[in-house]
Amino acid sequence: MKNIIILGGGSSGWLTAAYMLKNLMPDTNITLIEDKRQGPIGVGEGTQPATAQFLYDCGLHPVDWMSATDATFKYGVELDGWTKNKYFVDNEPPENSLVSQHLLITDYFGSKSNEEWTRFQPSYQMAKKNISPKWYGLDTNFNIADRSYGAVHFNALKIVDVLAKHCVNYRSTTNRFKLVETKITDYKVDENGIKALIDEEGNFYKADLYIDCSGFKSMLLEGALKEPHIPYKDILLCDKAVAMPKSYTNPKEECHPYTKAITMNAGWRWQIPTYERIGNGYCYSSKHITPEQAEKELRDSIGEDKSTALHIDIKAGTHKHIALKNVCAVGLAAGFIEPLEANNLTWTTSIVRAVVELLNNNNWQSKEMINGYFNEINDEILAFIFSHYYYSTKDDTPFWQEIRNQSKRQLPQPSQQLINDIQINKTAFFYRSSSMFNLTQWFSMLHAGGGFNSKKLPDEIEKYAKYFIANQYNRVEQAKLFFKNHYEYLSESYGKN
Ligand SMILES: Cc1cc2nc3c(=O)[nH]c(=O)nc-3n(C[C@H](O)[C@H](O)[C@H](O)COP(=O)(O)OP(=O)(O)OC[C@H]3O[C@@H](n4cnc5c(N)ncnc54)[C@H](O)[C@@H]3O)c2cc1C
Repeated sequence: MKNIIILGGGSSGWLTAAYMLKNLMPDTNITLIEDKRQGPIGVGEGTQPATAQFLYDCGLHPVDWMSATDATFKYGVELDGWTKNKYFVDNEPPENSLVSQHLLITDYFGSKSNEEWTRFQPSYQMAKKNISPKWYGLDTNFNIADRSYGAVHFNALKIVDVLAKHCVNYRSTTNRFKLVETKITDYKVDENGIKALIDEEGNFYKADLYIDCSGFKSMLLEGALKEPHIPYKDILLCDKAVAMPKSYTNPKEECHPYTKAITMNAGWRWQIPTYERIGNGYCYSSKHITPEQAEKELRDSIGEDKSTALHIDIKAGTHKHIALKNVCAVGLAAGFIEPLEANNLTWTTSIVRAVVELLNNNNWQSKEMINGYFNEINDEILAFIFSHYYYSTKDDTPFWQEIRNQSKRQLPQPSQQLINDIQINKTAFFYRSSSMFNLTQWFSMLHAGGGFNSKKLPDEIEKYAKYFIANQYNRVEQAKLFFKNHYEYLSESYGKN
């Protein structure tokens, strides 16, 4: 596996190239093929905390990409309209891990109101005040691995540019990277997998391993190797999205350090502030409204009548095998569930890490491990996203009536099992090796929708919990007084004020 072709120049293709160049054995050659006329999908602006760490492991310090991608900090996602009260799925586990005993969260707050729980979440309290206690954020003198950097929002096209430049710079220092701009139109396949890719001019491209980053079309995995796609469109009804940016009028107030996920008539919309503008998108079910109706509903909701709308088909679903013969699919070509909770980029990066580890151990014959790992994450994301709808209380439109009435039995068995685990046998869930979402994220979502079974704590633990939590409330109130406005902090750090 010394010669690798990556097909696709979206964020998954470039993330794979950057990580491989830095972390694969130095005698490996990498060629990335992209058709510039097709371009990346252009969405994917919210992340989970692991993304910053991944970029660091590609050789990119936050200083190298934050300002260049208009990045903002993301403390979590505020779910608005899904249940009686707004709730917050946070991205700041270190803050919450102060509690350390998960039973305080689940058993103490399980029986308390949503207001009491969200008051306890420092990340939410900071986020709602638009403040940014990330003083180490852009200091080059730290190793990101020593501190949890947290999640960010960024411009989906600008991160592709940063990664591409980073890889091309590698080309000038080593001879290991090649970029080819062309359209692949055909391939040769035999019983061992792909023998060659063929472009529109009849040129052949050969490798030992082909990484399929061709986006939803999954050209190599599904197209060449005929791996069946397993659709989720009957479980998760949203099959289209419309996205458009909006300019700031008052960035100090509007550049909030969290994502908003707000319910709409036939789905939900995201609001993601990057440094230069606010990204918006409506993820909807085409069974319930037309693209024109969706665009109008989005424009009316955000008060935007000028920006060009980007209409996107969502292919929700997965594959049993993403590593098959001499192909491995990564990114949208491998699987996609929903934009909700910004899971795809982080899922992608964890698969890239696993592939590189296998290759460095010269162990591609154990690729079934990649499939097992991929499916484990897939089952969890599916369970998590499904539960947002299942435990929502909104029921005032046909879309919400239909999606809330889905049965858990429609889910694959491992996803059903996970929901049961977190509700009944919380500890088992907490110690899963490859969790994408942590306990507080699950707890926030289930608790808000009444999907959490709480139990009474013994008296002395209840007393200790109250003492502990009173201190935490106090600490959060103090923190609100000390830190800068998020937008002002970024402007200063980026030298843009
Ligand atoms: C509505 C929506 C919202 C999303 N929001 C988020 C989010 O908030 N957070 C998150 O983590 N993820 C999100 N995602 C997922 C995210 O967009 C993807 O993970 C990310 O953009 C990676 O896409 P990709 O590189 O796999 O595919 P693409 O961006 O589609 O790139 C495919 C590449 O393949 C190339 N290509 C295709 N065919 C050929 C060919 N025949 N020859 C040569 N080149 C070819 C194209 O030129 C292109 O460069 C979202 C997805 C959708 C649909």
